[in-house]
Amino acid sequence: MSPKKEKGSNNRYKARLKVAKLHAKIADCRKDFLHKLTTQLVRENQTIYTETLAVKNMMANHKLAKAIADCGWGEALRQLEYKCQWHNRTIGAIDRWFPSTKRCNPCGYILDKLPLEVREWTCPSCSSLNLRDLNAAKNILAVGQTVLACGLSSSGDMSLTDLAILG
Ligand SMILES: [Zn+2]
Repeated sequence: MSPKKEKGSNNRYKARLKVAKLHAKIADCRKDFLHKLTTQLVRENQTIYTETLAVKNMMANHKLAKAIADCGWGEALRQLEYKCQWHNRTIGAIDRWFPSTKRCNPCGYILDKLPLEVREWTCPSCSSLNLRDLNAAKNILAVGQTVLACGLSSSGDMSLTDLAILG
């Protein structure tokens, strides 16, 4: 092997190492973000309900979507579960069929459909202006509290694609 080639492959190796280090750094950063997020959620809330939604719904929040896609939904839920246990919080899951997004929280009216790009909508029944994510979170809270109050078990399917943040 000529010295030139050796040098070339050495440079390639260095470049590859650089890329690998960068990927590791990004992964660490996302892991860190996910840990901070789940810790904050558990600290600030006595009860947390989770809901399964289509992954595309989460793409609206780019930073969150990337962090969770990188670590996996299972990891986000795993962190929430053990942190809830540590801090004596309640955690529950809502069945995926529940129309949390399309249901008007103030009056219960359910829209036929609500395209993803619509971030807020006015209820045709009661004229309330509903912010998409906040309205959905309120619905999830209401169902979660009902399930809790009635002592019913919620869905066993715990794949997490959305968080309802409850104060
Ligand atoms: Zn309404």
